[in-house]
Amino acid sequence: MATSIPLLKIVVAGDGNVGKTSLIRQYCEGRFEQSRVATIGVDFQTKTIEIKGHTIKLSIWDMAGQIHFQSVRTGLYRGSRTAALVHDVTNPDSLAHLQSWYDEITVVVPQQRFLVVGNKIDLMPNYDSSEAKRFAASIKAPYLATSASSGHGVQKMFLGMAYLALKK
Ligand code: GDP
Ligand code: MG
Repeated sequence: MATSIPLLKIVVAGDGNVGKTSLIRQYCEGRFEQSRVATIGVDFQTKTIEIKGHTIKLSIWDMAGQIHFQSVRTGLYRGSRTAALVHDVTNPDSLAHLQSWYDEITVVVPQQRFLVVGNKIDLMPNYDSSEAKRFAASIKAPYLATSASSGHGVQKMFLGMAYLALKK
């Protein structure tokens, strides 16, 4: 008899070019591309994982950063259990903008759990994460550095999101 696998919807948000699509690609397909076409609107992939002895299916939504798609994004946050707020460690503006990403998501999902992610750490291994960690603490979220290019932190990011999604 087929048992249905619980589905957890998670979203990956942040400015355009921070590496959202690359992180998802690295996690789901284990590969990285140097040049990528910008995501139009929204895209999603699923991955079935084992966590604490349970099988769950993650549906991972990839939000386009372009501001003119905000109306599209808003509806798509509905039903999500965790959101990653991704910034590019080489681009301070992308960190400054995470507050507005947070605000946009919490309007739709007031109880959302968040994970703050500093991506492209391969480009700046000595990145001083204190400001990013302060922001993460201000929204009661864990902070994690990743590289979609090397794969550093990528498993941890998505497993962390799954744990947060499952937390009662
Ligand atoms: P998105 O707009 O947030 O989805 O960003 P993309 O995934 O399309 O990535 C934007 C650009 O940054 C692409 O040229 C990627 O190859 C590059 N990129 C993404 N993640 C990393 C990373 O961790 N390290 C490096 N060096 N480049 C990255
Ligand atoms: Mg993209």
